Amino acid sequence: MSVLEVSNLNLGFMCECGFRQALYDVSFSLEKGKTHALVGESGCGKTVSAMSIIKLLPKNAKITKGQIIFGGKDLLKLKNKELRPIRGAKIALIPQEPMTSLNPLYTIGNQLLEVIKIHQGLQGEQAYKKAVEALEKVQIPCAAERMKAYPHEFSGGMKQRAIIAMALACNAEILIADEPTTALDVTIQAQIMKLLDEIKKNTDTAILLITHDLALVAENADCVSVMYAGRIVENAPKDEFFKHPNHPYSLALLRSLPSNSDKKLQTISGLPPSIQQDIFGCKFHPRCEKCMEICTKEVPAQFKIKDNHYSACFLNK
Ligand code: SF4
Repeated sequence: MSVLEVSNLNLGFMCECGFRQALYDVSFSLEKGKTHALVGESGCGKTVSAMSIIKLLPKNAKITKGQIIFGGKDLLKLKNKELRPIRGAKIALIPQEPMTSLNPLYTIGNQLLEVIKIHQGLQGEQAYKKAVEALEKVQIPCAAERMKAYPHEFSGGMKQRAIIAMALACNAEILIADEPTTALDVTIQAQIMKLLDEIKKNTDTAILLITHDLALVAENADCVSVMYAGRIVENAPKDEFFKHPNHPYSLALLRSLPSNSDKKLQTISGLPPSIQQDIFGCKFHPRCEKCMEICTKEVPAQFKIKDNHYSACFLNK
């Protein structure tokens, strides 16, 4: 069941050279109890797409078109005051670097209690109990004792757990996990992803996983959207995507994954375009081995490959 629908989201930035479009008709949906991965290289628009949901955007960003429907409302039409009870409570963010969300001057307990008081309306003993329970649920040992710790006394993995505890304490319906394990050791990465998986299964939370790491997607996602230069170029259920990838960019990304064989690691030639660059037609065409004449002139539509599998490439015309 769909809990959030992003449709035809268009966004741009006001730069020195004028207004530059950065997102083009981005559409995807999040389902209860499922993880949807937005994948792509740095600068492809995945983070700004996710941040549009909670309107945590740079000042020079402007959404020019689209809808983001959550709980029967278009989030893009809500004022900041109306968004506040949703942001951080019903839709919570797990950032790449947890210190961007934790205040170094307050204890973990204080920060957790504040969130519970504001979003759950609980006070005193009840709020304290809920905070300790949330820390226990994310497997922080000696939770009651750890309430008194400051963020700098927590390891990277524990800080990430504390942020997940805040989302749990508010019964968040959606978790936006923005490269949640990039700053962590490999073993801790696996623990955090396992924890997110357990939360998803136990509480029916929908997860939007922002990542450049296809191995993480293979292990943790249910559905994949591949982004390139501000557009979703391929969208499919996870198993279908890894069995039958279609878009030349997805294929190139998959070929650049390390494997156990002796095969040399392949790279994608060239760089993704910046938003200052004007590229006509398919924005991948300067890097695409299969580029045809039409690709330099027209923007490919989303062609249906199979049920729920779409690819924006003229090879499917
Ligand atoms: Fe390559 Fe053309 Fe497909 Fe773009 S539309 S990915 S340039 S073949």
